[in-house]
Amino acid sequence: MPELILKSGREKSLKRRHPWIFSGAVGRVEANPASGQTVKLLSHKNEFLAQAAYSPHSQIRARVWTFDQAQQVDSDFFRARIKRSLAMRHSLDGSRDSDSYRLIHAESDGLPGLIVDRYNDVLVLQSLTAGSEYWKDTIADILLEETGLDTIFERSDADVRVLEGLDKVVGPLRGPVPPDPFSISEHGLKYKIDFEKGHKTGFYLDQRENRLRVRAFSKDRDVLDCFCYTGGFTLNVLEGGAKSVVSIDSSVEALSMGPENVKNNGQQSERVEWRAGDVFQELRKFRDERRSFDLIILDPPKFAPTSAQARKASRGYKDINLLAFKLLRPGGILVTFSCSGGVDAALFQKIVAGAALDAEVDIQIVEYLSQGPDHPVAINFPEGAYLKGLVCYRN
Ligand code: SAH
Repeated sequence: MPELILKSGREKSLKRRHPWIFSGAVGRVEANPASGQTVKLLSHKNEFLAQAAYSPHSQIRARVWTFDQAQQVDSDFFRARIKRSLAMRHSLDGSRDSDSYRLIHAESDGLPGLIVDRYNDVLVLQSLTAGSEYWKDTIADILLEETGLDTIFERSDADVRVLEGLDKVVGPLRGPVPPDPFSISEHGLKYKIDFEKGHKTGFYLDQRENRLRVRAFSKDRDVLDCFCYTGGFTLNVLEGGAKSVVSIDSSVEALSMGPENVKNNGQQSERVEWRAGDVFQELRKFRDERRSFDLIILDPPKFAPTSAQARKASRGYKDINLLAFKLLRPGGILVTFSCSGGVDAALFQKIVAGAALDAEVDIQIVEYLSQGPDHPVAINFPEGAYLKGLVCYRN
């Protein structure tokens, strides 16, 4: 097996079982491994550390499959990991009220670079790294065998593939193209899914529990749903008895599915105003018009994928949270999220606190939110905890 030998002193994170090896830690690579091939990771003293997938083009030069020297990284290895992920979803998330959830959450399920989401009877696979790409066909066959399903749609079109030297791929990987229209059900609500053009793998599955949570706060409230996508939170606040909802997103394509979702659930469409626009600008307009709301949801896209963008991202979060606090009536609730890996929970809370201070509002945090149990965080991989939410009550 090809070998990757680390520089002196660079084995520390691996000994803590963190799965990434950055290019700067690499001393030398022996036997010219192919992209995605399994390499043996050795310390500069030739001690065995792990077996990892080699990414020749990426700053993250290798990602660990296993810390066990005796383990063969082969189809049995992937079958065992996939079975383990399925078993966890079955036992811990078995009572979910949804036909859709994440089956494999990459590093946090011991399978770096691999995302697999289940949408009713369709699996959507996203391969993000050279290693997951190398084993993609093996993995696809095992997924069908272990789930008993026959359809896998591939959404390997995330920008990070470019960093790995991989082209974008979208289309059926196994079985037929999924039926169109296609709907999923979550907490009693139906959502249309566009497998080809929808964001991520089609839906923001990570917000499942939070959408339900927000439903509970919504009775008789005037709601502002910012970054609404296809109406995830909007449908839930309608279900919870909201008086009115203004729902904003910059994607006209996503927004166009909102009214359809409302109609398909037999909800009152006249309670919702869908606005195509930039939230930063729309919030300013509302401030100038002295509009106010009882419940505001801020669920923006990733402003900082890594900590390198944390400063710029902080300004973005501060801006929208400050504006939202200004639009919030006394007794109102702001539910504010960050899904930026580069902004941790402590920093996010600090930014929101700064926004409340500048808006001159008296705020209590009444709940901390995060991603659902189908998006676990491996204890050795804190980067897996990317979604943070604060429920803020205005006195
Ligand atoms: N709350 C949604 C998910 C939101 S994801 C749900 O539960 O399904 C973030 C959304 O923000 C995306 O739909 C994206 O189109 C939108 N977006 C990104 N930048 C924006 C901006 N500046 N103004 C408005 N919407 C934006």
